[in-house]
Amino acid sequence: MKYKNFSKIQLILIHTLVLLHLFLINTTVWAKKPVIVTTYQYIAGITEQITGNSATVIALAPPQFDPHYIVPKPSYIAKLRNANLLIINGAQLEIGWLPQLIRQANNPAIITGTKGFLDLSNFVKKIDVPTALSRAMGDVHPEGNPHFYLDPHTIPVLAKAIYERLCTIVPENYNLYSKNYTTFIEKFNARLTVWDAQMTKVKGKSAIEYHKIYDYLLIRYGIHLAGTIEPVSGIPPASKHIAKLENTIYTVSFILQDVYHPYDAAQYLSQKFSIPVIVLPHDVGATSDANDIFSLFDAIVGRITQ
Ligand SMILES: [Zn+2]
Repeated sequence: MKYKNFSKIQLILIHTLVLLHLFLINTTVWAKKPVIVTTYQYIAGITEQITGNSATVIALAPPQFDPHYIVPKPSYIAKLRNANLLIINGAQLEIGWLPQLIRQANNPAIITGTKGFLDLSNFVKKIDVPTALSRAMGDVHPEGNPHFYLDPHTIPVLAKAIYERLCTIVPENYNLYSKNYTTFIEKFNARLTVWDAQMTKVKGKSAIEYHKIYDYLLIRYGIHLAGTIEPVSGIPPASKHIAKLENTIYTVSFILQDVYHPYDAAQYLSQKFSIPVIVLPHDVGATSDANDIFSLFDAIVGRITQ
């Protein structure tokens, strides 16, 4: 069909309808709130600071479980299917549970390489990056230590990455996100000053932890890691390893225990050598006093420096 077959009025009408259609597509995309799915609660905690109530933010992993081994549920697939943006920790922390869920969700908007997929580990310099894959030895950190977010100084870096991606995904909300992001960074930096001052109390002390989960925090605040209860990341301790730990324990001020590993080895060492066990949250919601991204670090810093 050629244009000359239309009258001028018909052409104007068609043109108007096309414009109206484009307008409706543009406005109905976000007529519903954008859905942002995050793997962990702490990522949702940062994201909500930037979106406010303008988005539906859903975290998949329950905070009381081992973040490496989350049990996949069918409800997670439905959440991923509806997502406009998926934000992950990365560095293979989710490798054991997320890839199969993404495949099953079959949502082209959130696959790797699209703007709907954000891997936070790309914005952080990781520690303990192995020179050769040591997975055969049971190491669950083949791309380096993925627990970078437990150093509170990492949070503003991650917040910036999230803020910038949100602006790309929902450019209509640029002003709102910018305002909320600025407020969040100011408030968080003020808390950082307080936490840094509190943590000077424990500078130079030695600690044992169950898993290499608090390393970024320990390095930040000059706490020496004397050993881990796990002989290798992801491998439970045998008595031979615990006996070896006992040789170095005389310098240790506290044992850091996460909420999801067995407490028995920490309690045994604690009783035998009179060293306190400090249970720390590893995510927002892991302990009752870690309700959001601020109180997560209030709880960690408060418990270590009590
Ligand atoms: Zn780990």
